[in-house]
Amino acid sequence: MAVTSAGTPNPATIRREAARRRTFAVISHPDAGKSTLTEALALHARVIGQAGATHGKGGRRATVSDWMKMEQDRGISISSAALQFEYRDTVINLLDTPGHADFSEDTYRVLSAVDCAVMLVDAAKGLEVQTMKLFEVCRHRNIPIITVINKWDRPGLDALALMDEVFERTGLTPTPLTWPVGQSGDFRGVLDRAGGTFTRFTRTDGGATIAGEETLDAAAAEAAEGEAFTNAVEESELLDLEDQNHDQEAFLAGRTTPVMFASAVLNFGVHKLLDTLVDIAPAAEARPDRDGEPRPVDAPFSGFVFKVQAGMDTNHRDRLAYIRVCSGVFERGMVVTHASTGKPFATKYAQQVFGRDREVVDEAFPGDVVGLVNASALRVGDSLYLDKKVVFPEIPTFSPEHFMVIRAKDSSKYKQFRRGIQQLDHEGVVQVLRSDLRGDQAPVVGAVGPMQFEVAEDRMVNEFNAPCTLERLNYSLARRTTPECVSTLARERSVEVLSRSDGELLALFSDRWRLAGVEREHPDLVLEPLVVS
Ligand code: GDP
Repeated sequence: MAVTSAGTPNPATIRREAARRRTFAVISHPDAGKSTLTEALALHARVIGQAGATHGKGGRRATVSDWMKMEQDRGISISSAALQFEYRDTVINLLDTPGHADFSEDTYRVLSAVDCAVMLVDAAKGLEVQTMKLFEVCRHRNIPIITVINKWDRPGLDALALMDEVFERTGLTPTPLTWPVGQSGDFRGVLDRAGGTFTRFTRTDGGATIAGEETLDAAAAEAAEGEAFTNAVEESELLDLEDQNHDQEAFLAGRTTPVMFASAVLNFGVHKLLDTLVDIAPAAEARPDRDGEPRPVDAPFSGFVFKVQAGMDTNHRDRLAYIRVCSGVFERGMVVTHASTGKPFATKYAQQVFGRDREVVDEAFPGDVVGLVNASALRVGDSLYLDKKVVFPEIPTFSPEHFMVIRAKDSSKYKQFRRGIQQLDHEGVVQVLRSDLRGDQAPVVGAVGPMQFEVAEDRMVNEFNAPCTLERLNYSLARRTTPECVSTLARERSVEVLSRSDGELLALFSDRWRLAGVEREHPDLVLEPLVVS
């Protein structure tokens, strides 16, 4: 069943390739500058020749990746899942995460596939709601975090105050690698805290090319920048006193977060961020399976699906399953085993989705992302392997908080309706919940954020040609229950039990008071929160 071609790279090559992979995502609150930074990183890696101000948000749909637009505008190599570029002989995989809080479940799935995160903070706003939520996810997953304070070219908070905020709100000790010379709004450059040198930034026209950088020793920096430099040195010494210096082990263990200062729009500090990713971000390493047993990177191929999406090309209505490669080498054409069914899965349609033309990928190594085309059998969380079985941990599903009944508007389109619902369920766009009582014609769809419904409705109309109506249900809370509890719960008012396609039984409640009432009355009922861990 398992076919590998002649010339498969040997274990030493695979280990070497894994060691030069850096796979990360940027987590931030909308508007902190994620798209700008992404483009700037790609620019510095010289994938693109020019970066410009193309971040207009007018009319942009939250479902459409910014990257698609970037790809069209720039002709750079992007998929809706990952941007890959080489820098200093390192392969950097930057995975895209949706910005809006309503899609935090998607973000969660993406974060299951990265080895590191860059937490991007707006210097004027500090840690915002969505940043904190995503930070919590990273912490749950023990993902090391590099913090970038962005927009230092604009008046904002004081640098030391920002460090206090990072510490107080995340519990991570900030260990700045660079320290700004000049207050926010007067960004002259950064002090490299380890070397004591000053990197001076020079504005280039509209940030259109790579920012000018020049390194000065401390004496020259003091002569050139005066108090701005001596202040930075003094503040850096304060950090020394508090032992806020980079410690690789503490960073990887999630106790500290290296911090850098940047202006993505001016390309200031972006070069240093790339160097930092290469120097200290973790490489692709052995991933633990469901039982905690690590799968060495040089073991036969394995990977897991972290995202499923309908083809973005309207002419090809295929489905793409994005795989994070965990071990071995992915070779196009190989036949792997789909862990949850035990069936062979042919990857001859596996195409690399980096790039508009979906170039065919021949090889991918641990840390890389591969898009499998026509992967209708694959669901988020599924594992694939060659030769030696491995099942990676499930990606937990969020607890839905919004519920709607969905019905086909036109009963003659029921077939299309059913197909659409199934597809959206597979992709995890919404969670589809059913019961005998409601029947298949009017299932319930659950979502973490209401915008997911808009996406679902839009796709039902435009993609599946199945116009539908959505009617809100008065539930806001779901708990996992067991078949034995169903009859008791069914007798309770404003409580409903529905089954999800992964087999979970969910009891829905209008609010936590109603839940508390039921729990009080029936202390023996199984009503467990759907945990995210
Ligand atoms: P996203 O929502 O996080 O992807 O944010 P964008 O990259 O779209 O940026 C939001 C806005 O902030 C845009 O108008 C950017 O031009 C602007 N912006 C991004 N980075 C910087 C920066 O470093 N300095 C300043 N002044 N503006 C920035």
